[in-house]
Amino acid sequence: MISITLKPGRDHSVMAGHPWIFSGAIAGPASSAVEAVEVRSAEGTKLGEGVYSPASMIRVRLLKGEVEELLARAIASRRVEPGAGVRLVNAENDGIPGLVADWYDGHIVCQFTSALAEFYRDRIVEGLKRIEGVKSVSERLDNESRRKEGLVTEPKWRPVWGEEAPDLIEIAENGIKFLVDVRAGHKTGFYLDQREARRLVGELAAGREVLNCFSYTGGFGVYAAKAGATKVTQVDLSEGALELARKNAALNGVECETVNADVFKYLRNCRDAGRSFDLIVLDPPKFAESKSQLMKAARGYKDINLLAMKLLKPGGILATFSCSGAMTPEFFDQILREAAIDAKRSFQIVGRTRQAADHPVALNFPEGLYLKGAILREHQHI
Ligand code: SAH
Repeated sequence: MISITLKPGRDHSVMAGHPWIFSGAIAGPASSAVEAVEVRSAEGTKLGEGVYSPASMIRVRLLKGEVEELLARAIASRRVEPGAGVRLVNAENDGIPGLVADWYDGHIVCQFTSALAEFYRDRIVEGLKRIEGVKSVSERLDNESRRKEGLVTEPKWRPVWGEEAPDLIEIAENGIKFLVDVRAGHKTGFYLDQREARRLVGELAAGREVLNCFSYTGGFGVYAAKAGATKVTQVDLSEGALELARKNAALNGVECETVNADVFKYLRNCRDAGRSFDLIVLDPPKFAESKSQLMKAARGYKDINLLAMKLLKPGGILATFSCSGAMTPEFFDQILREAAIDAKRSFQIVGRTRQAADHPVALNFPEGLYLKGAILREHQHI
């Protein structure tokens, strides 16, 4: 195993448990291969072991133990059951940088998004195959992180082991059923990270007219309809997602209207038509991929929140989210405050959400927090 030495004074974050070493922190030697390395401080103290990636700005990612042990520990902390949808491994936050593994009723879908995860691929797959009740292991390659790491991003999906996964896998979440398209859906097929937020929205939806913006396969809207919303409208740009949203509504014995539209335009049209709603959900895609896009993203978040705030009936509820890691919770709050001022409304924060507990954030890896949400209740037209 080759030994990588850091520049003087660049060992603090590693000492504090952070798993990334950027190229600028390394004194040498340089390698042209993806390989296992040990990392030492300028003084020669061994700091850890990991995998070197010449193609990445994050030159070394550290592994905090044996990969089998880390995998077993991650899995033991989840409730892995037939019929469930649950994240088994949440990358850096479970000590395995770049590895995501989601369980959909026994079908495991992985994303190997770093050279480290690729390096340990066979041992990871072996570990996953040993989980009780596992039916298949497959992987998604079409993600931005793989592209940045110089890894192939095609095909979109491929089987790795086991029986053939059905085109649509049925899972149940808080008693609500969803069909998951692991081959062509977003991420590994479903936004498991919003489970808690969907439950909260369901609790608030009875007797309300609900507008679910950026609905994807209908998650929030189906919860709301099941909970007794008077009407649910699901808006998304993807016809495929809406088709699945209709199937998901039918599967649960409820009805939803689906609208194929750009949310920005749809909200403006609603405003011009004088429409209003009792509960609006805004769960947009990542507007900021990195810090450099943050200001542009902030304008997008402000626009949709301002428009939605204006469409709320008195006492109405806005459930609003940001999944951009570059956007801090504080900055998101500030955007919401500014949107409310411009909308001439005042709100109370009646709930806050984060990514669900099966997407834990390692305390020494603040980058792990990406999803934040606020449930706002309108309490005064100014
Ligand atoms: N709330 C969903 C996840 C939303 S993902 C859930 O709980 O499952 C974001 C969705 O926004 C995607 O389905 C994408 O197709 C859609 N989208 C992206 N930009 C859009 C736009 N400008 N107008 C409407 N939908 C958009």
